[in-house]
Amino acid sequence: MSGAHAGVRTSDGSSSRPCSKVACTDEAVATLTYVYADSMVVVGPLSMVSDPHSYDLCARHAERLSAPQGWQVVRHVSLAG
Ligand SMILES: [Zn+2]
Repeated sequence: MSGAHAGVRTSDGSSSRPCSKVACTDEAVATLTYVYADSMVVVGPLSMVSDPHSYDLCARHAERLSAPQGWQVVRHVSLAG
């Protein structure tokens, strides 16, 4: 419950984007990309490029994302504080 956000880095000063989950108003910190060719869900740093196969997620949702059955989750970022 405590929102001890220890440093969300906005290096370029660009506007932050919200989590793409409905009803979630947290700031997105990671980008989720579905790589259909490899049945892979890739979680990486927040992308500045808008991609139709990408979803911006807040730390909470990025952490507890679930991949479809048979899919692999690849994480490029550590969201643990
Ligand atoms: Zn969220």
